[in-house]
Amino acid sequence: MPSDASPPKKRLLIRTWGCQMNVYDSARMADVLAPLGYAPTELPEEADMVILNTCHIREKASEKVFSDLGRLRGVKEEKAARGERMILAVAGCVAQAEGAEITARAPYVDIVLGPQTYHRLPEMVARASRAAGAVIETDFPAEDKFDHLPETAAPSGPIAFLTVQEGCDKFCSFCVVPYTRGAEFSRPATQVLAEARRLVAGGAREIALLGQNVNAYHGAGPDGREWGLGRLLREVAAIPGLARLRYTTSHPRDMDEDLIAAHGELPQLMPFLHLPVQSGSDRMLQAMNRGHKAADFHRVVEKLRAARPDIALSSDFIAGHPGESDADHAATLALIREVGFAQAFSFKYSARPGTPAAGAGPQVPEAVKDARLAEIQALLRDQQEAFNRSRAGAVMEVLCTGPARHPGQMAGRSPWLQPVHFDGPAQLAGQIVPVRITAGHPNSLAAEWLGGAAKAPPSHQEIRAA
Ligand code: SAM
Ligand code: SF4
Repeated sequence: MPSDASPPKKRLLIRTWGCQMNVYDSARMADVLAPLGYAPTELPEEADMVILNTCHIREKASEKVFSDLGRLRGVKEEKAARGERMILAVAGCVAQAEGAEITARAPYVDIVLGPQTYHRLPEMVARASRAAGAVIETDFPAEDKFDHLPETAAPSGPIAFLTVQEGCDKFCSFCVVPYTRGAEFSRPATQVLAEARRLVAGGAREIALLGQNVNAYHGAGPDGREWGLGRLLREVAAIPGLARLRYTTSHPRDMDEDLIAAHGELPQLMPFLHLPVQSGSDRMLQAMNRGHKAADFHRVVEKLRAARPDIALSSDFIAGHPGESDADHAATLALIREVGFAQAFSFKYSARPGTPAAGAGPQVPEAVKDARLAEIQALLRDQQEAFNRSRAGAVMEVLCTGPARHPGQMAGRSPWLQPVHFDGPAQLAGQIVPVRITAGHPNSLAAEWLGGAAKAPPSHQEIRAA
């Protein structure tokens, strides 16, 4: 049947590495390019433009970009032989940190753009189409990109991300973020609330507020005052139709009383918090320039648990930061045992050029880093399994995200962000439904649907009584 809807003129492939902020940025780049006629594709062969949205946090993440570029070069050349053009762009933190190296190692790249300039993509595409040589935009522009972005398109599922804060002024010894993402910046609260309302109107049931240091949020409020994250969460939670709210990533130093109190007050705020601590050793925390001690972290955890008894924690750990001794490593294992994590990420220290730790000594031998990381991961894996197993028999609400891999099965997320699978019709996607957990697996939960959709989120009194 012929259709008078003309097919999209151009195809866009975006590959995303790294954090959820990159996922958000990729969606916004797609929004920016949509008016130019770019529709998404998964296939490099049919793409008129490919954007690699990159992560520079560890060496391995950076190197993946260059191997992907090598593969895309072949596709670009094949297309060129057929008389077709493919614009190849590198975005994100590798672009910001290694712009010159990218154009030297991969001269077939057309555009190199940092995380602060993607609102200028249409102009860069026009320039790349006109002239030979790479278009490079990695400065930190004076204008605020959020003021120049189109309104967010509808979210692609019931879970939406919303960047509220960017950059970081904390300068942890090991971290590239202050250099690649720049100084800490908070979006005005009115802008955030307007975007959150649009996301909910577009079908989002859950919103995750994002920032490299999200709890350092200090955006201008409509009342002329500076709002902290606690205040912002309260206002976002009040949007009718929004059932679930999260925020990530937080720094223990910025967990202020108001934010901790919000965990006790807002039923929409899910009982799961990612709170990276990196190490359990005071000596290492100081070397890392984290600005707090292990005891401060324990105090924050205690307060959070007092405010919201069912809260579960996640964290990040680094094994083998320069100068780390066996005793420091033992202190990290001790902290993990004492706190007990429902889930966590752990990484082998990776020296990042330009960061203070890269030139600090003594560097820990690779084999020692490997052994320490393995110990940390074994302990965290046990804790995660135990947490998941402890859910067996529990009745909880699951946000259905879409059909699971097995036919007739639905996938969703628990309040603690665990993937949940159960038999249920595809129409449940986007709904919050009650389930009983039948088994806790290492990385997910199996459940049975109790029928119907859930009511409003439980009140704080109900949570406390549970
Ligand atoms: N802002 C967050 C915080 O303060 O904890 C973390 C942001 S960073 C994108 C995510 C995680 O990557 C960090 O928490 C840290 O564990 C890890 N990371 C950062 N730099 C690293 C490095 N040079 N080597 C290994 N892991 C690193
Ligand atoms: Fe990096 Fe987080 Fe430290 Fe900032 S607070 S420098 S983002 S690890």
